[in-house]
Amino acid sequence: MDNHSIINPILWAKTKNVNLAHLLYSIFWKVQKNIFLWKNGNICNLPYIRILCWNTFIKSLRMYDIIIIGWGAAGLFCSIFAPKNLRKIILEKNGSLGKKVILSGGERCNVTNIDITPEDDYFGENIKAIHSLLAKFSNYDMIDWVEKHGISTCVEDRGRVILESGKSKDLLDLLMRESTKNATEIRTRLDIAKIEKTDGIFRIHGNDGSVVEGKNLVIATGGKSFSQVGTDGFGYTIAKEFDIEMTDPYRGLCGMVTREDLSELSGSTLDLTLSLFDGKKLLYDEKGAFLFTHTGLSGPIVFNAVIKLGEHLRKLGIKESQQKGYFEEHITIRLTFNEESMTKKVKNFFELDDMKNDAVFHLADLKSWAEAKVTGGGVKLSELSNTFESKKVEHLYFIGEVLDLTGKTGGFNLQQAWATGYVCGQSFGK
Ligand SMILES: Cc1cc2nc3c(=O)[nH]c(=O)nc-3n(C[C@H](O)[C@H](O)[C@H](O)COP(=O)(O)OP(=O)(O)OC[C@H]3O[C@@H](n4cnc5c(N)ncnc54)[C@H](O)[C@@H]3O)c2cc1C
Repeated sequence: MDNHSIINPILWAKTKNVNLAHLLYSIFWKVQKNIFLWKNGNICNLPYIRILCWNTFIKSLRMYDIIIIGWGAAGLFCSIFAPKNLRKIILEKNGSLGKKVILSGGERCNVTNIDITPEDDYFGENIKAIHSLLAKFSNYDMIDWVEKHGISTCVEDRGRVILESGKSKDLLDLLMRESTKNATEIRTRLDIAKIEKTDGIFRIHGNDGSVVEGKNLVIATGGKSFSQVGTDGFGYTIAKEFDIEMTDPYRGLCGMVTREDLSELSGSTLDLTLSLFDGKKLLYDEKGAFLFTHTGLSGPIVFNAVIKLGEHLRKLGIKESQQKGYFEEHITIRLTFNEESMTKKVKNFFELDDMKNDAVFHLADLKSWAEAKVTGGGVKLSELSNTFESKKVEHLYFIGEVLDLTGKTGGFNLQQAWATGYVCGQSFGK
């Protein structure tokens, strides 16, 4: 325990970033110590006051105003925009932090997208929510924030906003600095065993026997794809435990495996139009960058088509275990080639000529969860207020990729994470 002075307690509290209970305790402790030292020459004469002080002190030390689980884009932004005077802690299972921020945009950080059309660029059951979200924290707000802190950005193909330095780490360092400056504690390598809420307090039990207590709990644990960096669907487990409704998570932004063997074309990149069909029904089409792989199809337009497909299957109620069968029977992909972007190899392989400029494939499967860059589906927005607080469980929040609000490739998913983190963090000051 500090043997701190009470000459200027406000200043002391500010520098140490403690809450009111902590401050009151230190004043109380000093006063009673001085009175009884003066009166009796020792400080043991008021056991009740000492026990009371001690309990208040211990509780204030243990109790956080905000516990954020997950040190990714959303959790970080929440911690940066939550009021400074609130005690905040981020709990993270990994040793290293912000891995997906680093990986984004091929490690050049695709911060956001310059051109967002909500209905075209996002998927989810309550897609309209993205309008009010972006009105509160838009792509331009994000660019301003980054540039205001001395990091330049530039716009590349498909409206992707990238760091001019080409180093994601610059943004990660900034985020860490701002989070720390806003008095956020971080605890890493925490393996959470259990979360409970009793008497209005959330208790996070670690497998090491530790307990972290807080008044508000923010779940920012991402989705369940790309689990090699720590995202294993923990947020969905918490949602289930608290009886919060979700749409089934599905793979987004990954490649497709075709029934046809295209390995001969592996590595060929083209600009073309991809059209995705369920039977005769056109589900999606987009023109853009495309790549043949050993097992099938890849590239931005394929990734986007995969999210659209995931949403379509969700609406049809097709479970993951039934997907492969459904793909084989119903789903086809048509590629329409154009002369400007064509290689001899591709032309010969598909025997393209003036009369024939397309080829049709049958979808056998999607690439694995480990390869999917995002998870579609998740906690339903209809379960949450506009500050992302659960309508069923007071003071429990969900932000970022754990939500049923998923973007195309190109900066839309990070933008969602920044915006939901910002809105949630700010709401604690209101
Ligand atoms: C390879 C790759 C490239 C990408 N590129 C782009 C891109 O260019 N542009 C774009 O917009 N998006 C991109 N994305 C997607 C984007 O990075 C994510 O949508 C976004 O980072 C999600 O942020 P988040 O904070 O919600 O979750 P995450 O960034 O996933 O963070 C969640 C955090 O929670 C932690 N966590 C999980 N479970 C627990 C637990 N039980 N206890 C404690 N901590 C836990 C995780 O370790 C992780 O640190 C990419 C994703 C990948 C995988």
